[in-house]
Amino acid sequence: MAEEAKFCCLRCGAEFLLPYTPGVTEERTCPNCGSNSVRRKKDK
Ligand SMILES: [Zn+2]
Repeated sequence: MAEEAKFCCLRCGAEFLLPYTPGVTEERTCPNCGSNSVRRKKDK
């Protein structure tokens, strides 16, 4: 069951929610600029 996690683009600084499956590393692409320099943000 996927949950949503907040991601942040290192290139343009956009923040967005994407489905995230714990334990699974997937390459993410920024929906704003297309960069794959995307990091998951930890809210804790
Ligand atoms: Zn971006």
